[in-house]
Parts: sequence; C-alpha cells; structure tokens
Amino acid sequence: MAHPSRVKSKIAGGIPHMPFQEFTASTLEQLLGELKKAKIPDAEIEVSESEDGRHYACSKTLVNILVYTSRSIGEEQDYKDLIALYQYCSDCKNAVRVL
Ligand SMILES: [Zn+2]
Repeated sequence: MAHPSRVKSKIAGGIPHMPFQEFTASTLEQLLGELKKAKIPDAEIEVSESEDGRHYACSKTLVNILVYTSRSIGEEQDYKDLIALYQYCSDCKNAVRVL
C-alpha cells in the first residue's frame, strides 16, 4: 500500500495498538469498544465494509475501521485527520492496525 507523503504521521496518544500490530478481537463490537474506551481526544470512529480488501488467510471481506480526529476550522467546517486504520476479519477474529 502506498503511503502518500501528505498523510502526516501525527499519531495522537491514546490509540491502544502500534502500527502494523496484529491482535485478536472476538467481535467487531469488542474492538470498537476498546477504541472508544481509549478516549482518543476528539476521535471519531467509522466502520466500512472493504470492497477490495480481503483477508489473505481466508479471503473473506475485511471490515475497515477508521479513526479520525476532527476539529472545527470555522463555521460548519470540520477538518478531518485520519490517525489510525484497522482491518478486521470477523471469520478469523483477527484485527490488524494498518496505519
Ligand atoms: Zn480471515
């Protein structure tokens, strides 16, 4: 995967995993709960089905979990910054932080 240089490596404290760390999560809800519990400042969590991403081990579709921080930059405008990206395979109960 390419890493565009415009993606800043501004890793906020509070994210409970290291980049490229693989770990087991028994459910998606458990993983989401863990991220919410970490109280990452101003974080928003988005979940999306990955169309093209498939788990190499079982070829099931992966779920993407995106962690943003957002802050206002003027009226009704939000500046969003992706600070972490996880992929989760519900079949293998395997999660990996890919960004
Ligand atoms: Zn899998």
